[in-house]
Amino acid sequence: MSSLPSASRRKFLAMAALAAIPAALVNQRALAADAELPHVSPDDPTAKALNYVADASKLDAKTAPTFKAGSTCASCVLFQGKPGSAFGPCGVFPGKSVSARGWCASYTKAG
Ligand code: SF4
Repeated sequence: MSSLPSASRRKFLAMAALAAIPAALVNQRALAADAELPHVSPDDPTAKALNYVADASKLDAKTAPTFKAGSTCASCVLFQGKPGSAFGPCGVFPGKSVSARGWCASYTKAG
C-alpha cells in the first residue's frame, strides 16, 4: 500500500481543519456579541408597552390576557438566541437581548 493516500488524507484533514477556523471564529464572535448585548430593562418604553417580563412564570395574567402558560421567548419566532442560551436578541428589541424565559405581548409561537 502506498503512503500517498494517507498523505492525501492528512492534507485533506488539515485543509478541512483550516477551513473550519473562520466559521468557528465567526460563531464565537456571534455568541460573544449576543452575550454582550444589554438585557432589556423592564423600564424600557417598548418593554412596558408590550408587557415584557424577564420571567414569564411570574407574569400576572390580569395584565397580560393573551399570555398562554408555557409561552416563553425561547419558543417565540422572534427570538434569535442560540438553543439553550439564557438570553438572546429579539427582533422587537434591536441591540438588546431578552431572557429565554421571558415573554411579551408580541409572542408568536415558532414552528
Ligand atoms: S417578541 Fe418574542 S422573543 Fe421578543 S420579547 Fe416578545 S416573546 Fe420574547
